[in-house]
Amino acid sequence: MTTVLPAAVLAPAGTPLTARVTEAVRGLDGSPTYVYDLEHLDAHAGAIRAALGSVELIHAVKANPDPGLLRVIARHVDGLEVASGGELAHVRQMAPDVPLAFGGPGKTDTELTAALHARVERFHVESLNELRRLDVLARELGTRARVLLRVNLPTGGAVGVLTMGGRPSPFGMDPAEADTCAASLESSRGIEFVGIHAHLASGSDPEPCAAQGAAIHHWAIDYARRHGLPLAEVNIGGGMNVDYVRPERVFDWAEYARHLSALPEGPVVRIEPGRAVSAYSGWYATEVLDIKRSHGEWFAICAGGTHHLRTPAAKGHDQPLAVLPVRRWDRPWDRPGCGPDDAITFVGQLCTPKDVLARSVRAGRVRIGDKVVFALAGAYAQNISHVEFLMHDRPAVTHVGDC
Ligand SMILES: *Cc1c(COP(=O)(O)O)cnc(C)c1O
Repeated sequence: MTTVLPAAVLAPAGTPLTARVTEAVRGLDGSPTYVYDLEHLDAHAGAIRAALGSVELIHAVKANPDPGLLRVIARHVDGLEVASGGELAHVRQMAPDVPLAFGGPGKTDTELTAALHARVERFHVESLNELRRLDVLARELGTRARVLLRVNLPTGGAVGVLTMGGRPSPFGMDPAEADTCAASLESSRGIEFVGIHAHLASGSDPEPCAAQGAAIHHWAIDYARRHGLPLAEVNIGGGMNVDYVRPERVFDWAEYARHLSALPEGPVVRIEPGRAVSAYSGWYATEVLDIKRSHGEWFAICAGGTHHLRTPAAKGHDQPLAVLPVRRWDRPWDRPGCGPDDAITFVGQLCTPKDVLARSVRAGRVRIGDKVVFALAGAYAQNISHVEFLMHDRPAVTHVGDC
């Protein structure tokens, strides 16, 4: 048995670590493990739902397809958004009755057909070509696909006013193509127009995020009016910020909802956040295998690395972390470690200088054998990581919390 001192040193200050997670990490043997706290997630998702009022909430499964997490999230949402045939099959199997939206660029005929068979409630159509293919497939099956056109609107500008221009993007269609789609709807018996969808940016704070939503809403109402279409729904996307540098600055859902409540009456408003729902309820736990001082700088080499937790490499930040000191040291030689005030870089086991989890952070005294817990690892972490690189074992996964 290893003994872990109760106090964890947190870097940056305030990095959240629940008592349940600390307890679970104490019991681990040090092998890299994702720890998901389901009670934490249940409370967090419940608070988001409560803050939103009449705004509908669907969750983007691509943030993390872990079934334990999805089952908890499914209790609090109006549906799940899937972006591939794989996610579709996965979600339908674990939650057969949850309403689904199917988004993503490059949907194949096979995927669209599977989605029609699986009674997907919303298709987020990304191009005129996709709309035509979906129409043909739906008619062949004697059904109608309920469609939101995904539009690539220009970002920025004041509330309700979109700046001209817009950014080139493979996602969604330009407004002019949406006009062409509207013209083709009359002859598309396999399509039922439901509304407009846009997902324009990730990493926004409440006010700009809501302003962007208001601009989409405004554009959608104008679009429907111009084309004489009934507008049942506007999906204003996800992208609510997770602040990896200042993790205590959690997205203020109440403030966001207050801004959205100023929207004019009309279509149902939906949002589809991913990361801001699950990021805070996942941790990646590992241990320090070696410590070295290289040309004046300290390095802690951890079991695992960015092939398990790619987020800091992908986004270019230092992953918030906590060190759980372990007292026990069985070796007959002195235990290597840095001093309490030293800056130290946490890396993994990969043979590449890019395998950095946190660079030059102050995490107190760090010694070989200590446990390290990286926070904000519940979204775009395990599932975006290149686990095959160097053929290390995959990380283990454990769920904590009574849920
Ligand atoms: C990725 C994605 C989301 C979720 O984005 P987050 O930044 O995780 O909130 C929502 N909608 C679409 C279309 C996406 O591609």
